Amino acid sequence: MSKNKSSESVKVVVRCRPLNRKEESNGPAGTIIQMDIRLGQVILRNPRAPSSEPQKTFTFDAVYDANSKQRDLYDESVRPLIDSVLDGFNGTIFAYGQTGTGKTYTMQGAWLDPEKRGVIPNAFDHIFTHISRSQSDRQYLVRASYLEIYLEEVRDLLDPNHGSARALELRESPDSGVYVRDLTSCVCKSIKEIEEVMNVGNQARAVGATDMNEHSSRSHALFLITVECSQPGPDGRKHIRVGRLNLVDLAGSERQAKTGVQGERLKEAAKINLSLSALGNVISALADGRSGHVPYRDSKLTRLLQDSLGGNAKTVMVATLGPSSQHYDETLTTLRYANRAKNIQNQPRVNEDPKDALLREFQMEIARLRAQLNHRKWRSKQKKDGQEDGESWERDGDEGTEGEDEDEGEEVEKEAEEYVKLEEQRLERETEAIRGDQFLLAEEKQRLLGEKERMMGVLRKEQEATEQLTAKYKAMESKLLVGGKNIIDHTNEQQKMLEMKRQEIADQSRSEREIQQQVLVQDEETVELRETFTSLQQEVEAKTKKLKKLYAKLQCIKAEIQDVNDEHVRSRQELEQTQNELTRELKFKYLIIENFIPPEEKNKIMNRLTFDTEEDQWKFQPLVPAESKSSQMKKRPASAVGYKRPISQYARVAIAMGANSRYRAENIMFLELDMTPPNTTSLDRSGEAESNQSHSVDSSPTKDRGVRKSRSWCQTPKSMASSSSNVSLSACQTAAAMAAQ
Ligand code: ADP
Ligand code: MG
Repeated sequence: MSKNKSSESVKVVVRCRPLNRKEESNGPAGTIIQMDIRLGQVILRNPRAPSSEPQKTFTFDAVYDANSKQRDLYDESVRPLIDSVLDGFNGTIFAYGQTGTGKTYTMQGAWLDPEKRGVIPNAFDHIFTHISRSQSDRQYLVRASYLEIYLEEVRDLLDPNHGSARALELRESPDSGVYVRDLTSCVCKSIKEIEEVMNVGNQARAVGATDMNEHSSRSHALFLITVECSQPGPDGRKHIRVGRLNLVDLAGSERQAKTGVQGERLKEAAKINLSLSALGNVISALADGRSGHVPYRDSKLTRLLQDSLGGNAKTVMVATLGPSSQHYDETLTTLRYANRAKNIQNQPRVNEDPKDALLREFQMEIARLRAQLNHRKWRSKQKKDGQEDGESWERDGDEGTEGEDEDEGEEVEKEAEEYVKLEEQRLERETEAIRGDQFLLAEEKQRLLGEKERMMGVLRKEQEATEQLTAKYKAMESKLLVGGKNIIDHTNEQQKMLEMKRQEIADQSRSEREIQQQVLVQDEETVELRETFTSLQQEVEAKTKKLKKLYAKLQCIKAEIQDVNDEHVRSRQELEQTQNELTRELKFKYLIIENFIPPEEKNKIMNRLTFDTEEDQWKFQPLVPAESKSSQMKKRPASAVGYKRPISQYARVAIAMGANSRYRAENIMFLELDMTPPNTTSLDRSGEAESNQSHSVDSSPTKDRGVRKSRSWCQTPKSMASSSSNVSLSACQTAAAMAAQ
């Protein structure tokens, strides 16, 4: 599995963007950064310090100033990494820096302007041009995914339901390390297709965000490209190498103000930079080299980049800076961060023949389809030969040797078509012959015609199946890119030469810088050993110079120590503040729980909770254990033993007394029809005296109406309830009268 076990350090380059219009209006005094491109050094001036204070110098693998071109950065610092990915290494490029310093500009740039295209579009060009120029015995499969991490949740940017989809989980496999489960991965066959993938993701990112600026400065975007390459090895077998490329645009590195926020907003604020501070801790732990534990598991980002930091990958970090004096503190923090990352050692190796290579699966599927097609071809050929009684069929239905794959599909299709055509003609001829045969009985004729019809149907079905198979085969095959075949390289010889020269220059300037940096280091160490002095005066002068130099260095280091201490104190204070706020929040929650949730309920909830270390979350266990669900559900409630449903004591007594108990507990009255014909009386409203009488008739209506009220089962014949209510009502009235007096 491994070819190259040597370790190499993370490459760190620094880029400073030009002053923007607002900063320009402050005048050139605003710039606090100087760069020595030849030596790869950044010199930072503290705008608040007196001019006597020495400036801070940092050395990196390369530095790019405000005049640098996207192309320079790519050719010098990124191209070698992409070449390694194409050779089967894992590669990572991440852009780190304060918001507005050019992370997105460096990674993506302005797509439409060829001069301003960033690392990602240039990498697309690079990968597909490489494939188009490689030998034809190589097969490639290129896949792309796009995700973002926002508030510690991983979201798939290529999922059409991006907004509503739930966060994805991280998983780990021994073969490919940490990966995102169920992440969409698109097979790309050309630059256009992969650019489309990128666009879809960028749009999803913009749509999901209410404030794009805020969102993009707080989320990490990861574009992942997997390049699988199969190539015949010296043993004659095909070997697959898998290169994975992570292109990461990190969230803005500026400190988020956490003071004064509470509740949900506090949790959010604590999460926003969690991944970044975890990244810082991982880098510190790795750069330190002494601490055994590297806290990869503290955040989603560090888990995903586990291989890129101290593992199996080649990594380039681009730290971006703004030249303006108002961001001095952030710029210094970024430079320190970047300086620390230089010390991380990785162990990159070629991923050869991993078990989960998709290309292998594709190749096997294609071989299987080809075998099926060949089998059909062989069958049709045999039939044809049988009819024509002609030449013999020598090649049997094997898969064919590798060299003649190319036109196999088309050849097979042609053969099949030819066979079907001949067969159809033959069947038609025979059908005609049957129709024309006058000696056959009508019945016999019908039977033979039916037979031919059936054969025709079978033939058509077979043809359809072959067509489907061919289409599937072609679709499958088209996903694989063959070196120098599927993509046509349009660059002419002159351009190719130009590219080569540019690469040579980039390589040269890189090695020149490395030598310069080495010379500088050696100079400082060995200067006094070589010098011999002719006079005492000269010796004093030289030694004074040396002393001055060393004194300046000492001052620098002292200032550095002071700075680091200050920063340490500041971050500790911030952490304490966060802790205080979280403790307050916790106390608040405790108060609610202790005072408003019954202890038994609290215990019940607490017994149900378990901690899921994989997702870093508390989770509820299911109420009913999955296996005993069915048996539990069958049990009847204990209160209803012997009855169909829970039943009241009163109803039980009523049942025991033998009366029909149904509904009686609810005290519902029965209404029955009285079938006796009603007595009709004619009302005589002539006299005044009778008006009183009519009143009395009205007051007892039930006696004479067609419907009479039946007694409720619990009512005594004397209507206990109503009489008692009357009593209580009259009692009330008397009480009220007495109160009035
Ligand atoms: P970030 O992603 O770090 O927040 P951006 O990439 O969005 O920052 O850059 C902020 C602005 O600065 C953009 O308008 C971008 O065009 C400009 N910019 C950044 N870097 C450069 C550069 N090297 N050259 C020219 N313009 C730049
Ligand atoms: Mg950005």
